[in-house]
Amino acid sequence: MNQKGGVGKTTTSINLSACLHKMKRRVLLIDLDPQSNATRGSGINPASIDVSVNDVLLDRADIGSVIINSQSDGYDILPSTPSLTESEVSLLNNDDREFHLRTKLTHIENTYDYILMDCPPSLNILTVNSLVSATGVLIPVQCEFYALEGLAQLLKSVELVKKNLNPSLTIQGIVLTMFDSRNNLSEMVVNDVRKHFGKLVYQTIIPRNVRISEAPSFGQPVLMYDINCSGSKAYTSLAAELLQQENVNL
Ligand code: ADP
Ligand code: MG
Repeated sequence: MNQKGGVGKTTTSINLSACLHKMKRRVLLIDLDPQSNATRGSGINPASIDVSVNDVLLDRADIGSVIINSQSDGYDILPSTPSLTESEVSLLNNDDREFHLRTKLTHIENTYDYILMDCPPSLNILTVNSLVSATGVLIPVQCEFYALEGLAQLLKSVELVKKNLNPSLTIQGIVLTMFDSRNNLSEMVVNDVRKHFGKLVYQTIIPRNVRISEAPSFGQPVLMYDINCSGSKAYTSLAAELLQQENVNL
């Protein structure tokens, strides 16, 4: 998550899902953004599906019946459509509004090794539902001017959720995205973020890579679109770091 738009949340969700799936982990990607970019980028046209995460959150469909397989033999996805804005409003009238997704996930969580959630670019009730359901928060930070802006606030919000709603929540890590080696600013942002957040920052830096931005228009993760490009290598390395964390945490 990151309440800023365009920092690489969806790109990271899709590509980490694909890499973890390739590494033989059982992966579910949940699209929690009404913009449905994770759904589209996974090869599913939101206009072509009858039920989505919105129907699960509104108790109109069973979660197991809404999950579909992305691509042929890909990771699983709980797709979203623009109708998800309906849940965003209607959850607010629910007594268990922060816990709705978590309750639904109890039915399927043992089916997966990793459940990734792609959040909308705001701290709304859908984001809170994902924080309440999660064990870790992965924060993409774009190597751009103002990268650090809002980050302190974001960490405070995560702390608040941890304190009041989900004691087992941790910061999984900060991942630097869209690094441009031709741009001195990128290097400065990397140094700044590492200085402030130290060990929370992944070693892997995701480069700005045109193949990464082309892949979604073919409904594919970059790994499928061009396995040899720098973007594929970077997301594979990030997935390996994530698996390493798992070992360390044992
Ligand atoms: P968010 O979900 O945070 O709004 P996205 O993942 O949708 O951000 O990324 C915003 C835009 O930047 C998209 O058009 C995406 O294709 C592009 N993009 C993301 N990461 C990279 C990258 N490493 N290299 C090139 N383009 C990227
Ligand atoms: Mg997005």
